[in-house]
Amino acid sequence: MVDDLQAEQAKVDADVEQVKTRRTRDRDRMDSGAVANPKDLERMTHELASLERRIASLEDEELEVMARIEDAERDLTTLQERVAAIDERLAALLAARDEKGAAIDAQLLDVEAERGPSVDGVPADLLALYDKLRASKGGVGAAELRQRRCTGCQLGIDFAELAVIKGKPADEVVRCEECSRILVRTAESGL
Ligand SMILES: [Zn+2]
Repeated sequence: MVDDLQAEQAKVDADVEQVKTRRTRDRDRMDSGAVANPKDLERMTHELASLERRIASLEDEELEVMARIEDAERDLTTLQERVAAIDERLAALLAARDEKGAAIDAQLLDVEAERGPSVDGVPADLLALYDKLRASKGGVGAAELRQRRCTGCQLGIDFAELAVIKGKPADEVVRCEECSRILVRTAESGL
């Protein structure tokens, strides 16, 4: 926009210069007395008057173009300021996002570090079962079998069931018949 107007201004400037050169040439010819014929003199006087009008009109045009250049430059400055403000805001938002992202990553690492050691070496299907039970059983997916009772639902296990549990290999998952929680066998289980 500003570039276009500056090109227009250069063109008007050149036009003014061209007309002024012609005016000077005509004046010089008249002043030198080379034009003696009254008709020629009258014609040249008319031409000079017309050149004056043309110069005045071109100079008006020049002023108008200059005013438009000023307006366009002011608009451009305003836009540049707005772009700079938006860039600044964007940079602040990106920085805040990165900061929050880093905080969340740190939290995730903490949670994983906390959970890591306890799930290491636990088969995926058992872990999935545990997570499912924990979600449906008020946050407790596994319970210790203690003194022949499930500490999850607090109900006693009858002797027949205890015998079945006792007969199972140590790596087999045992579950409470009442509450379905995973029963963890220990030396205190009473088996
Ligand atoms: Zn139970």
